[in-house]
Amino acid sequence: MLASVLETYESWDLRKVAIPSRSRLYRLDPIGIGTPLVESLTGYISRLAEAHCVTPKALISRELVSFIPKTYKTTNLFEMRSLTGALNGTGTMALDLATVLESLTLRSDLRFLTLLSWTDIFPQRRLLRARRAWCPYCYEEWCSSKDKVIYEPLIWFFEAVTLCHWHNQSLYQQCPHCKRELPPLASYSRPGYCPYCLKWLGVTANYPSSDKTPPSKEEIIWQTWVIKTVGELLANTPHLPKPLKREIVAQAFCRYVNQFTEGNTAAFARMLEIPKNKVWMWQMGKVLPELNVILKICFTLQVSVLDFLTQETLKETSSKFPATPQNQVRDSSTKKLEVKFDSDRTQQLLENVLQANEQPLPMTAVAKRLGYPKRVLYRHFPELCRAISAEYVKYMKESRIKRIEHCCEEVKQAVRQVHSEGIYPSEAAISRLLAKPGCFRDKKVRAALRAARREICLEP
Ligand SMILES: [Zn+2]
Ligand SMILES: [Zn+2]
Repeated sequence: MLASVLETYESWDLRKVAIPSRSRLYRLDPIGIGTPLVESLTGYISRLAEAHCVTPKALISRELVSFIPKTYKTTNLFEMRSLTGALNGTGTMALDLATVLESLTLRSDLRFLTLLSWTDIFPQRRLLRARRAWCPYCYEEWCSSKDKVIYEPLIWFFEAVTLCHWHNQSLYQQCPHCKRELPPLASYSRPGYCPYCLKWLGVTANYPSSDKTPPSKEEIIWQTWVIKTVGELLANTPHLPKPLKREIVAQAFCRYVNQFTEGNTAAFARMLEIPKNKVWMWQMGKVLPELNVILKICFTLQVSVLDFLTQETLKETSSKFPATPQNQVRDSSTKKLEVKFDSDRTQQLLENVLQANEQPLPMTAVAKRLGYPKRVLYRHFPELCRAISAEYVKYMKESRIKRIEHCCEEVKQAVRQVHSEGIYPSEAAISRLLAKPGCFRDKKVRAALRAARREICLEP
């Protein structure tokens, strides 16, 4: 029977549905990004492995290592338990691992589980500890709470942090059951458990008591401050406009020396009970102070490390300083610096630069450190500036000669090594063995290569 009326059906959209890209590993949410208690990358790997029902060893050796075809200190990622603390730090290992994990989980925030944003600011030495440290009371609390996850906060890895601020208890660094120290990441790591005896590390009724003496009142005050300021750094890491540059450390020292002691480095150093030479080196940006040192300085100055480095609240915090002679000096110096060029002080600083028995700096760097334009310094002290510049030029020339001599020696040894392995010592073969492969651009280095070949009768 023919239908008398044509029926209208709903229309179908035949366009292909856009399927978002799939991640190879679960896109597990990291804990606490943007807070003082942000998770550590090693802890995240343990949780990620658990989510996949495999051990961290399986996850790393069967998945991650194939994406990082590299050895570190002659071994690969998982044969180096004692070095796994570096995975939370500021170096290449942390960068490689965070990058590969970000691509496998399709996340872009895993680098905030490390200290990669602070690579140029904090030297690695004594920054993070090589072993795990934990608060058993925190573990127990998280375990008994339904909506909390057991994890490893990054702050527990800081060498400067020895206490749990929430429980006023020293962090444990040894399994109370098997008495072993625990690496940040091991084959059978699981947040809250010992990777060796596999026992729970949270406090239980028959928990072995700590052999540590309870923290003193002074230690609690110091640790409370350390945890607060380190926590502030961690909480602000994702909000930094970009990773901070090394220069800001020197600039911070210059600023504070100016503010507190009218640019007098010796007086500033005396105030902090630190050798003058050290403060001067930090001011000139020649070396970076370790975090532990910055913490002590900031504690004395009563300023948080973040404010010290970024100066955002310098004016605000200055009102909080107790009235001391130093503060009075600082207050008067603030006014002075704003209105006039301090000729005597600048001359003294330029003379210091010239007399210092250190690596010479170019005038641009000196001007930057002193906080005046280079042309202003040349106008006031032309001879001093020219002498500083001449020292720098001389130093650069000498360094270049030394560098080339070193390259020639390296080439000579590389030729012998390659030849003994039965390979022709071509420029390409030798380049692969050199610390700076580009050094063949210099004709003296090329001549050294020919001479070395002649020595083993490979060239007329
Ligand atoms: Zn705790
Ligand atoms: Zn154990």
